[in-house]
Amino acid sequence: MKYFLAIIGGGPAGYTAAEKASKAGKDVVLFEQNAVGGTCLNVGCIPTKSLLYGAKQYYNATHAQKYGVTAENVSFDFAAMQKRKTIVVRKLVAGIKQRLNNEHCTLVSGAANVLSRTDELVTIACNGETYEAENLLICTGSMNFVPPIPGIKDNPAVWDSTDALAAAELPKSIIIVGGGVIGMEFATLYHELGVPVTVIEAMPTILPNLDQEVVAVLLDKYRKAGINILTSTKVESLDGGRVTANGEVYEAEKVLVSVGRRANLNGLEALNDLELNCGAIIVDDFMKTNLPNVFAAGDVTGKVMLAHVAARQAEVCIGRLLKQIPLQRIAYNAIPSVVYTNPEIASVGITEAQAAEMNIETEVRRLPMTFSGRFMAENEGETGLCKMIIDKKTQMVLGVHMIGNPCSEFVAAASFAVRNGYTVPECMQVVFPHPTVSEILHEIL
Ligand code: NAD
Repeated sequence: MKYFLAIIGGGPAGYTAAEKASKAGKDVVLFEQNAVGGTCLNVGCIPTKSLLYGAKQYYNATHAQKYGVTAENVSFDFAAMQKRKTIVVRKLVAGIKQRLNNEHCTLVSGAANVLSRTDELVTIACNGETYEAENLLICTGSMNFVPPIPGIKDNPAVWDSTDALAAAELPKSIIIVGGGVIGMEFATLYHELGVPVTVIEAMPTILPNLDQEVVAVLLDKYRKAGINILTSTKVESLDGGRVTANGEVYEAEKVLVSVGRRANLNGLEALNDLELNCGAIIVDDFMKTNLPNVFAAGDVTGKVMLAHVAARQAEVCIGRLLKQIPLQRIAYNAIPSVVYTNPEIASVGITEAQAAEMNIETEVRRLPMTFSGRFMAENEGETGLCKMIIDKKTQMVLGVHMIGNPCSEFVAAASFAVRNGYTVPECMQVVFPHPTVSEILHEIL
């Protein structure tokens, strides 16, 4: 049988594309070597959020006095948290499988290898069988990057995020190398469960790609809470749990290394004429590579390594393959992102620093989250911050950057404004429900 589309990788890009193309009546084969759902569902977004939620329940119970509640002898069971996480993941994986099954998509469990390609046909091997398709969509994702630091390889004290998520027990203490998104989310998890945490970040600040005024609020809170955060500090070598950085030695039971991820090109060796940039597949606005019938979506394109970007790239790609008019593009200028620290950080659009780099004259508005009544009622001792970046000439909203719970839940409202180029007077016409923290987006106008 010749398929219309072969997809390698069943993460958010792969399963979204498979469902959409199958729903349109196309014959689709999807190859996945592990469980469908990919990194995000199995060893990324969902398991971390499940554990973080457990940790937050414990943390809130032990810090409830400020709300007039005293809870004595509060304890947690890490094994039970892990068990719940596994059940959540299992249910979501089953849901995706069911959806693919409902659309009659052929799901093949195994590692796929591209054997050959012409402009008419791609041949793929998996589990000793051969599959043929007119088009190929590569959704092979990314892998944890292991930096070339002496003593890191085969070091039993070293974890990556997958090891940390699978651990049966909490470490007694942890050093986190890399104060990026993964590093700060795990710092939150361990800190809230009482594990001493040291974060070592090479750049002058943690979360270097985010608005630094927002990051400063987190940094201040975490440092006061006792998380040891070292910036402008480069790890020189490791020896078990002993980490040498900037000439000093730090020691912990485990060392979590989270210094970024790299595109996974395994199984694609036969596509030796595929164009790459810094090890990631180059794609056009419709996710097409330089090869006429080969497309790529998700982390493997190295554009923005976020699950929701991967899913949107997949939608755009399938729209293009099905020749749906009008052809859609991704609004990369309006991708929301969230860091699940406590408080959460959520942002969309450009930062003040990026606007300056782009020579855009802006008006920057700032408001503490405490302007929201609901925030005051539910976030004792927190101030939070909402920042809006506005084009001075057009009054268009270019970016929104927030810290304060639960800003992840309403950053999508700001995405609507940035995506559609709404101006301040247009945004003012939107009615927000009261009392919600989302009202901050109205108050700031
Ligand atoms: P990252 O790029 O977000 O952060 C890596 C950090 O490590 C950077 O701050 C960098 O300066 C630092 N670093 C690099 N080399 C170092 C060294 N030798 N010593 C000390 N610090 C060093 O990468 P990540 O945190 O590993 O996350 C990987 C990807 O997964 C990212 O694209 C991220 O957006 C994504 N992710 C997203 C979420 C979310 O959306 N909530 C959660 C987890 C991961």
